Amino acid sequence: MRVLITGAAGFLGSHLCDRLLKDDHQVIGMDNFITGSPENMAHLAGNPNFLFIRHDVANFIFVPGRIDAVLHFASPASPNPMSPFGYTNLPIQTMKAGALGTHNTLGVARAHNARYLLASTSEIYGDPLEHPQKETYWGHVDPIGMRSVYDEAKRFAEALTMAYHRYHGLNTSIVRIFNTYGPRMRLDDGRAVPNFILQALNKEPLTVYGDGQQTRSFCYVDDLIEGIYRLLMSDEHMPVNIGNPTEITILELAKIINEILQNVGGIQIKEDLRLGDDPQRRRPDITRAKELLNWSPEIDLRQGIELTYPYFKSKLNAL
Ligand code: NAD
Ligand code: UDP
Repeated sequence: MRVLITGAAGFLGSHLCDRLLKDDHQVIGMDNFITGSPENMAHLAGNPNFLFIRHDVANFIFVPGRIDAVLHFASPASPNPMSPFGYTNLPIQTMKAGALGTHNTLGVARAHNARYLLASTSEIYGDPLEHPQKETYWGHVDPIGMRSVYDEAKRFAEALTMAYHRYHGLNTSIVRIFNTYGPRMRLDDGRAVPNFILQALNKEPLTVYGDGQQTRSFCYVDDLIEGIYRLLMSDEHMPVNIGNPTEITILELAKIINEILQNVGGIQIKEDLRLGDDPQRRRPDITRAKELLNWSPEIDLRQGIELTYPYFKSKLNAL
């Protein structure tokens, strides 16, 4: 296949490029570097199967040659208001990537009659009242909350994707990605795992926001990419959750990272920097992914952190 991947310079997009190239597909990566970095694709320079186009997906997209699949991953993704790369500090760009970017990438897919895969998110469930979250759950989202620029853009993106499927008969798919971590996240991304690893490497206290009793379910990147690849190769059209169903509190996450990195800096639970609509709990029901794709995650949190922190260490040492 000849595949267009938007957000190719980002964390997940760059791993997807690698995965598709590994299976002998041709990849066209697209990115405007708003939160991503050319360093994430540096190893692909000179690869005859890889072409990079610097472009903002909010503007009309032209790609030379045929396209067999489009994977739309371009969007800021960190909620942390302390990070300049968090979506609350890039609110309009986030809404444009989710809304206009989805429209433009669907347009490319339609012009080429290509398979389409939308990177959606567990955030479309908002601060969920149903637990764990099944794909049938409609969600609990504040339409004007601090997270709404991201959540509502992704909800619009899902609706538009289904409209192209139902009205134009486009071969679309939607992955609802739950918290994923691994190498190539930015040091200053602001999400919990990179923040905690960086703080632990610097022997600083880990900044747990609020009482730390809010939960998440963290998936290692290789597991996620495998699930997405299987979804792309399937003919499923309805949304599929991909994530690791092992749920822990943010306080437990901090303790585990301190333990693995032998950080004696401890934990700081004094300032609540949570956005007002920060979900209290989150855990995917992955029954559909298991049944449709024969997929479930294989790497547990401790293994995943062991695989991730050396990347942050080398980036930190290179500063
Ligand atoms: P990331 O910030 O590392 O990657 C996003 C990439 O998109 C960056 O390289 C950025 O420069 C690019 N981008 C943003 N707006 C763009 C635009 N207008 N035009 C071109 N490129 C643009 O974040 P990530 O974690 O890799 O997230 C990738 C996708 O996965 C996003 O759509 C995100 O919503 C989704 N997602 C990620 C997670 C996760 O846990 N990592 C969870 C749910 C959903
Ligand atoms: N969080 C935290 N300290 C940090 C970064 C994040 O306590 O330094 C919290 C954040 O408020 C949220 C949880 O950790 O409750 C997960 O945050 P993340 O940014 O990883 O992603 P989210 O799942 O909220 O989108």
